[in-house]
Amino acid sequence: MKIKKLEITVTQQAPSATPIRDALQALPGAGSVKVMVETEDGVTGVGDAGFGRIAGAPQALAALIEHELKPLVLNQDLAYIRAIHQEMLRETEYHGAFGLAMFGIAAIDTALWDCLGKSLGVPCWQLWGRVNPRIRAYAMVGWLNYSDSEVQGICAKAVAQGFHAVKIKVGYPTLKQDIARVHVVRQAIGDAIEIMVDANQSLTTAEAIRRGRAFEQLGCAWWEEPLPADDIDGYAALAHALDIPVATGENLYTPADFARFLQREAVDIIQPDLRRAGGPTALLQIGTMAHAFRRPYASHGGGPVQLNIMACLPNALYLETGLLQPGSQLTLEDGYVQVPSGPGFSW
Ligand SMILES: [Mg+2]
Repeated sequence: MKIKKLEITVTQQAPSATPIRDALQALPGAGSVKVMVETEDGVTGVGDAGFGRIAGAPQALAALIEHELKPLVLNQDLAYIRAIHQEMLRETEYHGAFGLAMFGIAAIDTALWDCLGKSLGVPCWQLWGRVNPRIRAYAMVGWLNYSDSEVQGICAKAVAQGFHAVKIKVGYPTLKQDIARVHVVRQAIGDAIEIMVDANQSLTTAEAIRRGRAFEQLGCAWWEEPLPADDIDGYAALAHALDIPVATGENLYTPADFARFLQREAVDIIQPDLRRAGGPTALLQIGTMAHAFRRPYASHGGGPVQLNIMACLPNALYLETGLLQPGSQLTLEDGYVQVPSGPGFSW
């Protein structure tokens, strides 16, 4: 079945006047790019890439998809999704199959798998073979700019919604402030709820080891991305020094990056991002590879695409999501969310 159409829609978002913050950056929101593919039989599939920041990024990505990637997709057979993925990597290699190029590849790859599932009338997990009917979920709700009372309120709300785990940002100027933040949250949610801590690449190795030991004592579930994403030597030292699991991967690109981290024993929990890793084709490869290394997979970001992928991974650990919004299709039961049952990546 040939792909006959690829349409790009840019949604520009007015930046928030009070952006959420982590230890590295402010995230006012910038918008997103949606890709819709259509076969000669009129079956469609969609994928998208959102941006937490950089106002011009959606327009730049749309141009890249239109001029570089779209010609590689049109008139190809939908059954050859992995071949199309390889071709997009090969074509963009000249300037680097990373950054925006990878965001575009991922959005198209998502649209193609969605289209294949819909053309066969089955969820994507049925194309790949399912292991899990449901996935544990946690709420990433504790932004760095929230006051203590705000963070207590939102974490308590997440628990009231049915989450059994919350993640908070740390990486304040001092260890003392980080410890105080964990105590404040623990006070609000009690002892039965897991707390993950995330420093968004902001520390040195020595400081990450020092703070990691403190989070270990506080019983935190994992210590996320304390070092710059590409510092494989630092992550190897950290994972070796600490008992608390070291989680990273949201800023790594391609399965090859993950292979290096796994080989070096520089990560305990992998956290691939759908956009940066390169779409479902790459996430499946990364997740399966990590399983061979006996390392769990926790998604960066949530939604039906990650859920369909995690449904097929024996090492799926946690889905990341935010607070459930009105109309959300995620339903929580015992801290777990059901895997979607609609065709493609639909609910
Ligand atoms: Mg993170």
